[in-house]
Amino acid sequence: MSKYSLVVPAYNEEKTLPLFYDAVVPLMESVGEEFEMIFVNDGSRDGTKEILRGLAEKDARVKVCNFSRNFGQQAAFLCGFSEATGDAVIAMDADLQDPPEVALEMIKKWKEGYDIVHGKRRKRKGETLFKRATASLFYRFMRKITSLDMPADVGDFKLYDRKVVDAVLSLGEHDRLLRAQAAWVGFKQTTVEFDRPERVAGETHYTLKKMIRLAESGVFPNSDYPLTLPLKAGLCLTGLSLVCFVVFIVLACSGVAFGGLTAWLFPALGLATGIVLTCHGLSNIYLSMIYSEVQNRPKYIVADKFNL
Ligand code: UDP
Ligand code: MG
Repeated sequence: MSKYSLVVPAYNEEKTLPLFYDAVVPLMESVGEEFEMIFVNDGSRDGTKEILRGLAEKDARVKVCNFSRNFGQQAAFLCGFSEATGDAVIAMDADLQDPPEVALEMIKKWKEGYDIVHGKRRKRKGETLFKRATASLFYRFMRKITSLDMPADVGDFKLYDRKVVDAVLSLGEHDRLLRAQAAWVGFKQTTVEFDRPERVAGETHYTLKKMIRLAESGVFPNSDYPLTLPLKAGLCLTGLSLVCFVVFIVLACSGVAFGGLTAWLFPALGLATGIVLTCHGLSNIYLSMIYSEVQNRPKYIVADKFNL
């Protein structure tokens, strides 16, 4: 018999939590196996803490961790992961935008032998065109500039096998985007598709500022591409300026008039800027290596072993 842990971050979710509990418990009970629900109250300012205390008092399967202030959804996932004792962990939102019945499909896939089951959004109701467009751009951008195999239109609603949870917890970095780390650790992955409904109550907590911060946590720890740009630009500019110099010298030697002394300023400035950018780019190579050392990710992750 397996045990499942639901990890649910909650920030100002007093209206949604009772609905979440009533919807999820019968479904999870229908699986006929053991489960726990770990709610991480991310510094809520409404009645979330009291609601969770009430649920925990009447149901021992409800476990609650209250943050001292708002640390963000990603930190809440991390806390839930470190408290979870299940063989499989399902991360889901408190507002029922991650339909609980999809969690049952995830469990089926897990039993078929998949280690990560992504919830892939087919349609997203109640979200502005701006949010859908920026989310879609973000996934495409991430796939381009990182080496991560992050499936498009997949958020944090996923099932993780215990070994994936342990692998994610072994990544010591501070700035983290769980869905990017799940892609980094590898393992056998699949997706289940669903139509994302509107929030059951309340409003989204993701302002544009928070979304940009989230995107940064995905991009910068997983790609040194921005750091490589000055070297590329510096080498191009230096090359172009040198070509320009050669052309000017040939023109000057053949006695062609082409703008006098001021014309030489352009390749001279270009060359100086190109050299500075190239030197900056070279330092960035070291910076990128230092970052990777500081990040100190495991050199490899073993999925399983034979005869060892
Ligand atoms: N959340 C959180 N801390 C935050 C913001 C959000 O724990 O600082 C939780 C929130 O309570 C919900 C989940 O993260 O359970 C997703 O948040 P929300 O529904 O606001 O985001 P959206 O679905 O609009 O992207
Ligand atoms: Mg939501």
